[in-house]
Amino acid sequence: MYAEIIVDIASEEVDRVFTYRAPDTLNIQPGMRVRVPFGPREKEGFVIRLKETADYDESKIKPILAALENYPALLPELMALAWEIRDRCHCPLCEALRLMLPAEMRGGRVKVKTREMARLKIPPERIEEAIAAHKRSKKKQMLIRLLSDGEPHPVDELKEMVSNLREPLNDLAERELVELFEEEALRAPYYGRVDAPPDPQLTPEQEEALSELLPALRGKSKPFLLQGVTGSGKTEVYIRLVRQALKMGKGAIILVPEIVLTPQMINWFRSRFGDAMAVLHSRLSAGERFDEWRRIRRGDARIVIGARSAVFAPGEGLGVIIVDEEHEQTYLSDRFPQYDAREIAASRGKREGAAVLLASATPSIYSYAMCRRGDYTLIEMPHRVLNRPLPRIHLVDMRQELRMGNHGMFSGLLQEKLEQCIAQGHQAMLFINRRGYASSVNCRKCGETIKCSRCDVSMTYHSVDQTLRCHYCGEIRPMPKACPACGSPYIKPMGIGTQKVEEELNKRFPGAGVIRMDVDTTAEKNAHFELVDRFRAGQAKILLGTQMIAKGLDFPQVTLVGAVMADLTLNFPDYRSAERTYQLLVQVAGRAGRGEDPGEVVIQTYQPDHYAIQYAAMQDYRAYFNREFERRKSDLYPPFTMMARFLCEAREMPVAMAAAESIKNRIVEEFSLTPLFRRIFFIRADEAPITRIQDRARAQVLMKLLNHPDTDALLRRFQEMAGGEYAAKVTLEINPASLA
Ligand code: ADP
Ligand code: ZN
Ligand code: ZN
Repeated sequence: MYAEIIVDIASEEVDRVFTYRAPDTLNIQPGMRVRVPFGPREKEGFVIRLKETADYDESKIKPILAALENYPALLPELMALAWEIRDRCHCPLCEALRLMLPAEMRGGRVKVKTREMARLKIPPERIEEAIAAHKRSKKKQMLIRLLSDGEPHPVDELKEMVSNLREPLNDLAERELVELFEEEALRAPYYGRVDAPPDPQLTPEQEEALSELLPALRGKSKPFLLQGVTGSGKTEVYIRLVRQALKMGKGAIILVPEIVLTPQMINWFRSRFGDAMAVLHSRLSAGERFDEWRRIRRGDARIVIGARSAVFAPGEGLGVIIVDEEHEQTYLSDRFPQYDAREIAASRGKREGAAVLLASATPSIYSYAMCRRGDYTLIEMPHRVLNRPLPRIHLVDMRQELRMGNHGMFSGLLQEKLEQCIAQGHQAMLFINRRGYASSVNCRKCGETIKCSRCDVSMTYHSVDQTLRCHYCGEIRPMPKACPACGSPYIKPMGIGTQKVEEELNKRFPGAGVIRMDVDTTAEKNAHFELVDRFRAGQAKILLGTQMIAKGLDFPQVTLVGAVMADLTLNFPDYRSAERTYQLLVQVAGRAGRGEDPGEVVIQTYQPDHYAIQYAAMQDYRAYFNREFERRKSDLYPPFTMMARFLCEAREMPVAMAAAESIKNRIVEEFSLTPLFRRIFFIRADEAPITRIQDRARAQVLMKLLNHPDTDALLRRFQEMAGGEYAAKVTLEINPASLA
């Protein structure tokens, strides 16, 4: 028998299968991980396929040295998925295969943890006789009694009852009275116990959504997009769907944007499904992650909740894959290979005959466009549960505030609503949008944002040399002293810190209690959960935070939400900035009024007329989508085009720039006389928007490509170029999550 093997080395040169001999004694199967000789060394490899004969000189073929596990770590479905990722993401197969396993499994960095067990080997009727025969050893007698139920007992537990048991225990084992053996022990992460609340009566909208979704558990359906407003009870729909899948003997994967941000969802699931559920996320220890992975692989846990990479969970017989908050950027991998977990979910569901459900209150432009095209089925839940109203949203024009002499960070309205909210004994959440912090420059008098003359994006302030730059075309201007539109001197880079707001709140509302959640206060492992619990317990009236508090949280006491600076993401130099602002605002607004008392929202903005802000205030997704979709079409942005870039990183900028220039020149030379060049809508080599990260200078070749079947040929060639030799580190990115 021979095996085709991918050696676990990520390099373009070895991105092909090698043939090895598979000795019968090893019982090699496709999907197994093995150790093989490779050149002068030994390497790990994946068995792709077995075959009867080798197509070249058999005497030259080396044997597989060992199987790393006695079962195939890779399921056939996941191997098929790896091939697909290789083609889609233009990466070596080995890199795609690595996605399918906990990273620590490679190189044997985690081991199966075992514990020693003891069991009595004699039948019950001989027990008294055996005890009598050991009159001279109290310890042996005790051990026999402790084991008299015939069940296996961990030796560690016996130790607590019988001191220094090693010698007597070994003696009993030698006399064949007791059997000692190793058993696998799972490092199950501890989540705490939660009691299952009774199932609520489904609302008519939930019923209707389920009646469309349940038949899809048998497979063969298009993916579904569930657009359900905040508080419409999407989680309950997931739970019923998963429960039905289990009843049919099938499994489920539920993807969530970031596990630490969704403790409630996990609790809801855990209380309903208990140990049938496994959780996969980055905050588990390596051992815990490995053990959870094995529980899934063995079929002990049929339900998996996890972040992006859980889409590769090794569950067999999947009934459904759910992607919660599908608009979140975290579903796009920020590492190479840059896969999109939503695409993988759709493709895996199709392959394995599982239903695929994407859900959000604010779907991504891409997914909603797929519904328009008829590739996905749209399901809507436009109302909150129990006839609870959506919150009332007030837009406050901060330019007006300034005109009236209010230079502070709180508008009159927000101050007033906060006072009321606290006086009534309710809670409030204040949201500060800090993404794209040190970025755009705005006039606080007229709201003008300084934009590039050639692109529809804001320019970015660079404090080092006090210039404004366009990250799309490279335009540079000096920082103006006055607003180019109205001449006001109140023009400056936006951005305020959460800490400053916290101080201000403590001054204005002494005794109310403020909990601040941002990267600084949640650095420690469970800090996030503790802060959330403290707020839920009512220990503070105001929760202040960044993106972190924007979504997923369900606090029934919160009746007021304030978005202190709604504009910041709007001016971030990315074609998706309007989309992100809309999503964020609707999501934060959705935190208000989830309990019995109706909610109110105050959005403070310098651009109250911007469509993203307007439609967010109306909570009108469809109108927003139409507007955004038209803009993408007319300005040729995804999903109508593809953004591709070579990122070149080096210690010094000139080295990074030289690599970028040479790649650009090669592309122009190679393609300019071919029809493929028409697919490149623009190409440019320059410094990346963030010029240095971790002391590496960053340059880029940025391209906008037209979507067309030929474009794939271009991308394949680009991948080869990216694998070439340069003085800088070069990576190819296609529609990256961030263009920073
Ligand atoms: P979404 O994810 O759509 O924003 P959630 O799933 O968080 O909404 O549900 C919002 C709240 O409504 C939760 O507190 C949940 O327990 C509750 N809920 C969900 N379905 C029902 C129902 N059918 N009857 C009563 N309450 C429900
Ligand atoms: Zn102005
Ligand atoms: Zn520009």
